[in-house]
Amino acid sequence: MAQEPLIELEDVSFKYDRNWVVENVNMTINEGQFVGLVGPNGSGKSTLIKLMLGLEKPVRGHIRLFGKEVKKFNRWQEVGFVSQKANSFNSGFPATVYEVVRSGLVSRMNMFQLFNHNHKNKVLETLREVEMEEYARHSIGELSGGQQQRVFIARALVSDPSLIILDEPTVGVDSEHVTAFYDLLAKLNRERNLTLLMVSHDIGTITSHATHVACMNKTVHFHGSTEDYENMDDETLSLMYGHSLQQLTHNHEGSSL
Ligand code: ADP
Repeated sequence: MAQEPLIELEDVSFKYDRNWVVENVNMTINEGQFVGLVGPNGSGKSTLIKLMLGLEKPVRGHIRLFGKEVKKFNRWQEVGFVSQKANSFNSGFPATVYEVVRSGLVSRMNMFQLFNHNHKNKVLETLREVEMEEYARHSIGELSGGQQQRVFIARALVSDPSLIILDEPTVGVDSEHVTAFYDLLAKLNRERNLTLLMVSHDIGTITSHATHVACMNKTVHFHGSTEDYENMDDETLSLMYGHSLQQLTHNHEGSSL
């Protein structure tokens, strides 16, 4: 099966006021890839995601989603987004797990469509896929950070997108549940051929789950398979990041950026 480019970035640059935070980024993410986007704090990862989602406009360059310039793109039902703030509902938040996932479907339905039995089954089926079906009637705020993020994955998944973008979704997730969360993403990537782009600070866990790694520090210095990333020698790695990051990435196996 030919792999279609789902995200194409061509010489993309962006600045806040006079501060260039994204410079000449070139990267193509193909259908079926699970890409971990790594880099130190403040290296422009979240900004790059905002650009891809059309929430900021590049000062220079082009961004295409599914072959279409972002500003003309209208198949947003194909793109799911899970942010790092999703898992911060407190226990009083008045929505059940079922309602949160259903909202992912409702926002994709047209206003005259009624919520029917098939939609209900779809919500429950999606909750089953993320192993959260038994929590359907629970309030979202009662759940742990990791469980809440599974629910938000289900909310993104329920409309059957081809691509999900995640911005550090494991912030606030207990460390013992982080691996299981990555396992779930890798399973969705394999079994649904779901394309994933995930910002992560955990290079060790990313390299053991993702198919590809992109390393960013204002620009994307490396984008390739996890295998190529792991086989890179330390000298290339330090050249890629520059001196200030050499120490952080020296022992890249199992370390955090
Ligand atoms: P990362 O996600 O890699 O931590 P960000 O994209 O959040 O990096 O930030 C990149 C740089 O842009 C940082 O220096 C940050 O302070 C700055 N920045 C982020 N958002 C804004 C904003 N809304 N206005 C001005 N500067 C910003």
